Amino acid sequence: MTAYMDHKDLANETIDPARIQEITDGAHRVLDLIAQTEFTSGREEGSVTLLAATKTRDVGEIMAAIDAGVHMIGENRPQEVIAKIDGLRYACLQRGIVLGASDMQTVARLDETDDPEALDRLPLHLIGQLQSNKIGKMLPDVNTIESVDSFELAEKIARRAAAREQTVGVLLEVNESGEPTKSGCAPDEAFELALRIAQLEGLELQGLMTVGAHVDDEREIRRGFAHLRDVRDRVRDSDAEGTATCVELSMGMSGDMTYAIDEGATIVRIGQAIFGERDFK
Ligand SMILES: *Cc1c(COP(=O)(O)O)cnc(C)c1O
Repeated sequence: MTAYMDHKDLANETIDPARIQEITDGAHRVLDLIAQTEFTSGREEGSVTLLAATKTRDVGEIMAAIDAGVHMIGENRPQEVIAKIDGLRYACLQRGIVLGASDMQTVARLDETDDPEALDRLPLHLIGQLQSNKIGKMLPDVNTIESVDSFELAEKIARRAAAREQTVGVLLEVNESGEPTKSGCAPDEAFELALRIAQLEGLELQGLMTVGAHVDDEREIRRGFAHLRDVRDRVRDSDAEGTATCVELSMGMSGDMTYAIDEGATIVRIGQAIFGERDFK
């Protein structure tokens, strides 16, 4: 288990007003920057979704971000999902929101509402690496797994999802920068791999994901984002089975979100610009 989990109670829900304000201001700054960049890039208003990257943050901090208007939640580690999901789900329901992929029986059990179908939904994505022995634990809760980078992993997820008579969203993660520390398939394999994954029953290929190059060179960062967009376009327009849903481009973090939006991101994954610097890695 990751060390910081021994030092921080991720299920904690109590949060002081100054910290709520800090997170609210951070989320509003990011939402404003997204809107401004959509405008300057000629993107349609509201075409970029703000995913709050919530690793190392506790339930109280995450609920402050949700109250401030973030559109979805992205967790890196299955253990963090497990530690937080009950608290998050309950706090969301108190606000009339269904978090993640909870089925309607779970919702009805936790909530007295007459019409659970009428509740708002807030998607929960897994954005970090997933080991196959954790797939079963994630499927009841996550809508989309953004970190699928091999056919073998996609097949394992598909098998578990089909057994549950469930369809889970996946994004194919591509290592556009080629940095050896990063996960993701090779850029020149992405197209073929996406077509194979798109055919799997139990999965819905929703798009592609990448982590921007860790460099200062704007052109280098943009090149990776533009290549991801090009692969997405070719997959979506291929007419191959299961590819019509391949529309999302999850790219852009606190440091490079404006480039990503300009290059076509539909989801930006933002941690530190909302919550502040992380105390733990
Ligand atoms: C942490 C993380 C983010 C957010 O990074 P920030 O620099 O905190 O905005 C985005 N994507 C992934 C996969 C991450 O692990």
